[in-house]
Amino acid sequence: MNFVTRFAPSPSGYLHLGHAFSAWTAWRAACDNNGRFLLRLEDIDTTRCKREFEAPLFDDLIWLGLDWEEPVRRQSEHFDEYAAVLERLKALGLVYRCFKTRTEILEDIARAPHGVGEVYRGPDTPMSADEEAARLTAGEAYAWRLSLDRCRDHLGERFGAMRFVEEGPSATKGQGPREVGADPTPLGDVVLARKDVGTSYHIAVVHDDALQGISHVIRGEDLFELTPLHVLLQTLLDLPTPIYRHHRLLLDETGKRFAKRDQAATLQAMRESGATSEGLRSIFLR
Ligand code: GLU
Repeated sequence: MNFVTRFAPSPSGYLHLGHAFSAWTAWRAACDNNGRFLLRLEDIDTTRCKREFEAPLFDDLIWLGLDWEEPVRRQSEHFDEYAAVLERLKALGLVYRCFKTRTEILEDIARAPHGVGEVYRGPDTPMSADEEAARLTAGEAYAWRLSLDRCRDHLGERFGAMRFVEEGPSATKGQGPREVGADPTPLGDVVLARKDVGTSYHIAVVHDDALQGISHVIRGEDLFELTPLHVLLQTLLDLPTPIYRHHRLLLDETGKRFAKRDQAATLQAMRESGATSEGLRSIFLR
């Protein structure tokens, strides 16, 4: 099997240690497997992502000793492809417009008998065509949500049979590659697009992983719980499901995840204060 993996950062700030660990983990796996390593800029959030963060990102990765194939895919250049994916889901009747505000959603969740976290399980009754038309005419904002009930009906037995191979160390107690059931139910009816942003991370990542022939998705374990949704989208869109390898998250000395606001943990700041790439690699190997 050809081993193809990727690092998919959002250029919304400087690369910090946590991201660098992710990039290095994927790159090293590609090297170990004689595979290919791709870089993809996940910049669909055009208010937060800025072109000016791209050059420093590339510089940091080169400094770390990584190399990747050109051209780099920039998601903001492919909104038309993601719109086409949403159209397919609309044509299958699997998404619906949700006009509820965040406050209304939270009220609905609070009323639900077994509400867990901030999961929205969809309306009790679908909105009438007249009400939808009136709200559209009034110019109200809305989100496109994926209806899990409709997905269940559409896929029949295939819904309960969805699985993926997980190779990461921490997803379950097991060792080595293992099959994990992909049940998206805990996630509820997820937003796939909005009136003003015609896509989401979920659509873009699933489309791009398939388009770029990614055989192994290597990413932080914070994304493990979203994977059943990605497997659902792959199943609905007849796309292959890659192998997943969710890696541990690198934590700071207080046990917290690195975040973009921690200026001291950016590679830029670490380089300026004399860190070496060998030093960082030894942190990664700990
Ligand atoms: N863009 C995501 C992030 O920066 C990575 C998504 C993925 O690897 O699937 O966290």
